[in-house]
Amino acid sequence: MNANILIVDDDLAVREVIRDFIELSGFNAFGASSGEEALELLKTTDISVVITDIIMPGMDGFELTKVINETYDTDIIMMTGCGDKYSYEEVITKGASDIIFKPMRLEELLLRLKRVFRERQLRKERKIMLKKLEELAITDELTQLYNSRHFYKQLDSEIYRRKRYNRSLSLLFLDIDYFKKYNDAYGHLQGDKVLVKLGQIIKSCLRIMDSAYRYGGEEFTVILPETKCEEAFIVATRIKDSMETEKFMPVSGTIVNVTISIGVTGYRPDERISSFVQRADKAMYIAKEKGRNQIASLLC
Ligand code: GH3
Ligand code: MG
Ligand code: MG
Repeated sequence: MNANILIVDDDLAVREVIRDFIELSGFNAFGASSGEEALELLKTTDISVVITDIIMPGMDGFELTKVINETYDTDIIMMTGCGDKYSYEEVITKGASDIIFKPMRLEELLLRLKRVFRERQLRKERKIMLKKLEELAITDELTQLYNSRHFYKQLDSEIYRRKRYNRSLSLLFLDIDYFKKYNDAYGHLQGDKVLVKLGQIIKSCLRIMDSAYRYGGEEFTVILPETKCEEAFIVATRIKDSMETEKFMPVSGTIVNVTISIGVTGYRPDERISSFVQRADKAMYIAKEKGRNQIASLLC
């Protein structure tokens, strides 16, 4: 195992015995004679587990544990010769993962160390799984854009930032033109391909701070932080033009173009999120009324 273990004890003999044994067991072992020295080493070395004595001159094992837990993802096993003074409950409550009493059997220390590593691994896997679940909850499965639930959450926090820092904030509402006809003519699966492609096109036209959402069905939204309405109009034009030139082939030999209509609007000071969203939607309908494959803006 290529993990780094740090042994902290003011008794050199104890430190060396544990260190040799741990190295023989396949870990990289480091030593420190005090809590202060341990913290210095932690600044430069990625340590998975610290095995520390409790009573030491200067910083004691509990103080060391407290500082480590505040700063690092490192487990702590405490060791003590005062078995009558300290208990398992106490060290766990104070943030350690385990305790071992001196004089110790090194094999027992190794078993405890391995258990701590298993728990570390499980914690890591759980964290990854939770992150995946969180992503899944905010992602639209078909287009891999964010979903509408996330749209409202993000818009809310962007409006908060807009108010706080007085920056501009723009919103796009996009809707595919005559999409029902496309579905009716070529089938739902071919329609889905259009949705996926449009999602990719939108993404390719955005900057890193912008975010795109599938609002529902064949409607998409884009939040453009720190963007004035005129700039948002330029982004909308880029998306509209890219979509217009994209060639779809729902049936072999037949090339079909699909267009979109886009509404653009900017946030007005102190307005409610619902009126901001409704105005972008209204602008999109104006673009539809003007003949589709158009962009319309309201109150820019
Ligand atoms: P308009 O130009 O006025 O927007 O006309 P439209 O036909 O696009 O609008 P309408 O609201 O009448 O129809 C929307 C269509 O979008 C109906 C539905 O079949 C299609 N649609 C919605 N969600 C999906 C989806 O997930 N996959 C596919 N393939 N089609 C969808
Ligand atoms: Mg629609
Ligand atoms: Mg439509």
